[in-house]
Amino acid sequence: MQLTVYSAKPFDREFFARENEAFGHDLTFLEPRLTAETAPLAAGAGAVCPFVNDSVDAAALEVLAEVGTKLIALRSAGFNHVDLAAADRLGLTVVRVPAYSPHAVAEHTIALILSLNRKIPRARDRIREGNFALDGLMGFDLHGKTAGVIGTGKIGAVVARILLGFGCHVLAADTEPDKALLAEDVEYVAADELASRSDLVTLHCPLTPDTRHLVDAAFLDRMKPGAMLINTSRGALIDTRAVIDALKTRRLGSLGIDVYEEEADLFFEDHSSDPLTDDVFARLLTFPNVLVTGHQAFFTREAVTAIARTTLQNVTDFERTGRCSNAVRRN
Ligand code: NAD
Repeated sequence: MQLTVYSAKPFDREFFARENEAFGHDLTFLEPRLTAETAPLAAGAGAVCPFVNDSVDAAALEVLAEVGTKLIALRSAGFNHVDLAAADRLGLTVVRVPAYSPHAVAEHTIALILSLNRKIPRARDRIREGNFALDGLMGFDLHGKTAGVIGTGKIGAVVARILLGFGCHVLAADTEPDKALLAEDVEYVAADELASRSDLVTLHCPLTPDTRHLVDAAFLDRMKPGAMLINTSRGALIDTRAVIDALKTRRLGSLGIDVYEEEADLFFEDHSSDPLTDDVFARLLTFPNVLVTGHQAFFTREAVTAIARTTLQNVTDFERTGRCSNAVRRN
């Protein structure tokens, strides 16, 4: 099947080309993001492969349907960026990669927690300048602390188990508690109670209309003073302006994020020669207790291999049967 891959980076070309040897699809790699304006570039391709910051909105889907696309093969787990109602209306099938490596994202989450707590970026900079003073580098033992995990699906469950391994008491909030985690001494509570009892809160639920700005001013007020907040899920789970206020008053102890509400105009590109025009993001970067990575939690060899393989398998399944077990259904 002809597959047009949008937002293609050199690593996409490398991993997709290698995995495609077993599938034999006809791949076209395009650097631009998918938008209504770039959608005509997919003309003739039965399948289109967008990434997380592509605009898979009604306008783009209408153009894709017009130029003959039948399948939207997302190379991501999240599908909050897709207008599923428009896809349904246009007869387009949307498939995704529901699981590639929960370990990749979970381990990056732990990297943010440890780096923030033990001030690793600051320590590295100091040592390079010959400054071996310890002032300002004090952290805390994770052992014995209470960690709150919101969303204990594939990624959150791995995070919870790693935190149990550190000797944390793990609280969880999820609409569907995980029985295995309950048996491992994870305590399920409401999100409000989790906020008020946790020394660190980490977000692993999907972005939906219900979870948008889950962490708002009220949630931050409920959090323990000085607690840590981590988000490797989707940027809009957090009201960034409210978080900035909580950092300014020192109510929030530290923030580690791999995702940002307005990341689509920033992440995955080299903007090092451009003025930073997003004042909210610029303000975030001024805090010494904020650590930002650019949506790289998924970025391991194992995860990128699995993303390419599952995406190509999804295309094959759809081509052969008109169906795919990884289809995204509208609730
Ligand atoms: P998953 O579907 O396995 O788990 C999500 C969990 O959230 C489920 O258990 C669900 O019941 C729970 N949930 C839903 N609504 C909730 C709510 N209102 N409150 C509490 N829990 C709720 O998904 P996953 O594979 O673990 O991925 C989680 C998220 O991580 C994805 O939605 C995606 O946005 C994000 N993600 C980020 C990266 C990255 O590179 N930063 C990579 C992959 C996934």
